[in-house]
Amino acid sequence: MNMKTPITELYGIGEKRAGKLRKLGVTNAEELIYHLPRGYQHRGNIQNLADAEENTVGAFLLTIATEPKTTTLRNRMTLTKCTAFDDTRRCNITYFNQDYVRTVFKVGDTYRFWGKLNVRNNVCELSSPQYERYLEDRPLPEFNAVYPLTEGISQKILANAIRTTLKRLIDNDELTDVLNEDIRNKYNLPDTKTALISIHIPNNFDELNHAKKRLAFDELFLFALSITITKNKINNIEALPMQRELADLNLFLSKLEFELTNAQKRAVNDIYNDLCGNKPMSRLVSGDVGSGKTVCAAVAAYIACKNDYQVAMMVPTEILAQQHYNDLQPLFAELGIRCVLLTGSLKKSEKRRLHDYIVTGVVNFVIGTHALISAGVEFFNLGLVITDEQHRFGIMQRATLTDRGNNPHVLVMSATPIPRTLALILYGDLDVSTIDEMPPGRQKVDTFVVNESYRERLNGFIRKHVTEGRQVYIVCPAVEAQEIVEEDEGEVIEFGYGYDADTVARMNTMPPLKSAIEYSKELQENIFPDLKVGFIHGKMKGAEKEYIMSAFTANEINILVSTTVIEVGVNVPNATLMIVENAERFGLSQLHQLRGRVGRGKHKSYCILVSDSKNEKSLERLKVMSETSNGYKIAEKDLELRGPGDFFPTQSGEARQHGGYKFKIASVIDDMELMTSAVEAAHDIIKSDPTLELPEHQLMYEKVTAIFKLNEQTFN
Ligand code: ADP
Ligand code: MG
Repeated sequence: MNMKTPITELYGIGEKRAGKLRKLGVTNAEELIYHLPRGYQHRGNIQNLADAEENTVGAFLLTIATEPKTTTLRNRMTLTKCTAFDDTRRCNITYFNQDYVRTVFKVGDTYRFWGKLNVRNNVCELSSPQYERYLEDRPLPEFNAVYPLTEGISQKILANAIRTTLKRLIDNDELTDVLNEDIRNKYNLPDTKTALISIHIPNNFDELNHAKKRLAFDELFLFALSITITKNKINNIEALPMQRELADLNLFLSKLEFELTNAQKRAVNDIYNDLCGNKPMSRLVSGDVGSGKTVCAAVAAYIACKNDYQVAMMVPTEILAQQHYNDLQPLFAELGIRCVLLTGSLKKSEKRRLHDYIVTGVVNFVIGTHALISAGVEFFNLGLVITDEQHRFGIMQRATLTDRGNNPHVLVMSATPIPRTLALILYGDLDVSTIDEMPPGRQKVDTFVVNESYRERLNGFIRKHVTEGRQVYIVCPAVEAQEIVEEDEGEVIEFGYGYDADTVARMNTMPPLKSAIEYSKELQENIFPDLKVGFIHGKMKGAEKEYIMSAFTANEINILVSTTVIEVGVNVPNATLMIVENAERFGLSQLHQLRGRVGRGKHKSYCILVSDSKNEKSLERLKVMSETSNGYKIAEKDLELRGPGDFFPTQSGEARQHGGYKFKIASVIDDMELMTSAVEAAHDIIKSDPTLELPEHQLMYEKVTAIFKLNEQTFN
């Protein structure tokens, strides 16, 4: 057996289970052992029956007092019952339809139970708890990993499969380490073997954190390697030549309704120089929400089109694609440039027609979603690739689109202000232009954090805005009411949030989620029957979304209840009130983006963050929003409070369904130093071996190509 052994050949996994595991993205031994826990039950934390709070899930060390008895209930259900005790109390243990436990529990034996403790009429009861035999000479593990599941695969099956596979790979000496000992020592990292054992079967917090650090390092290191290689590659190829004289920039600017800010002028100038330079442009335009990045992209597109190249502009949502198209198409038409919109929801025949236009060069400028990188789209002479809201895409998607042409120029735009170290990792292959100035006349968006007790006043505030002719966004964290969770796993210390008691308390006190569909219904029927309430979310069909957005743009909808699909880019200047429900669920940078949807016109705008969270840390975080409107400050605060997760390509919403690369572990680490180390280590390697040719770098080479699925040409 080796890392690539298909799961069907692993012990205990038949065709049926294999099919289910595939849904989790697990097809071979390597993917299985890298299927990481989403959290841990702290089973080593044994409670006394007498001291435990009612209805809490926890671990209890109990000795069986009476022989289990099974009774058959109506509809053939069985109930097996026994009693057990610790030093403080007695407890009933019951199991439904699991009469085999009769043969398990022997009077006098001690078990570690894990389950929810109910107390009724002063009698303790554990209902269907999980159990492990306790023997004094054989200590039980402190933690029990809890894995992301899919239907038909239980925790037990998955945990067993992972453990046996891991053990066999280690026994067969198949678990080779991508980092040599020198690097591991330099950065104080455990070897891969140790790290994987600890992540699945940790003995204590320290060990777990050490393991997490190693796995996160690998991700960042490989990512940095790949980016460095890409950058070197770009520096060594010739650009598609463009000429200044062919594009009349003054003509273009004269068509705009405004004058560029100085910051925009600088960015445009950078772009101009890049496009007419001798290596392909590879530039990031970074600027806060509303700073006016679109027009910089438009200038780039104009220059390229006038040089007879095609331009592809990729954005993460259909809503945004449509909006850019509506804004840019008339402008470009006036300049004699044909612009089309290509999204996934077009009819097949329309898509095919557009594909024909694109491959024959009939159209110059294509704006679209991921449909742009779908198979079947070929360009006649792609000269420039633009991605808007880059942080919503995986790096892979950027690479895929770039692959369509003959080393086209690349321009990416991102509104997420990124601290420098992070920028180095994510955009290490890019030059950066920063738009650090807002268009004139922007007003501050006043921001307040409120709880449920303000609901009525809040509804009054909504009505006031609508009465004045303005419009309102209400953002909810969920699309539909939540379904019931598959399995009660009890108090799980989530992987991503550190491992302190405080965090666990926060997770457990989160209020229920508001859902866009239900909430919009409630508002329409009970609160604002005389107003127009609409809703929109990412799972709707393209045409529906377009219909809703254009109705909102035309002020035919007063209140738009939405998920975060409107988070990026949407521009409706008449909207002046942004309400975010369950605000504690969102990252600060995300809230900043959402707030950026208002304050885009001449009217005074507000952002209200609604949270019923009792957790002080959550509330402190939200307060930051009311104190500053500076995106960079917010990003730094976010980094300090939550770790860098928010800054990584998340593929959230629509983009997520289309693949791409996401950090599994590094997205939740809170250790900036680790990032710097990973980048440094990658640079050291590339310095000595730019294309990873040396035999000792063979595994790195394989991992880099595998993770980013780049074909070998990228390295030549
Ligand atoms: P973002 O940087 O968030 O993508 P946009 O490009 O969507 O911002 O611009 C936000 C709004 O500001 C748009 O309505 C745009 O027309 C307007 N805008 C952009 N640049 C200027 C400018 N120099 N002066 C006035 N308004 C501008
Ligand atoms: Mg934008």
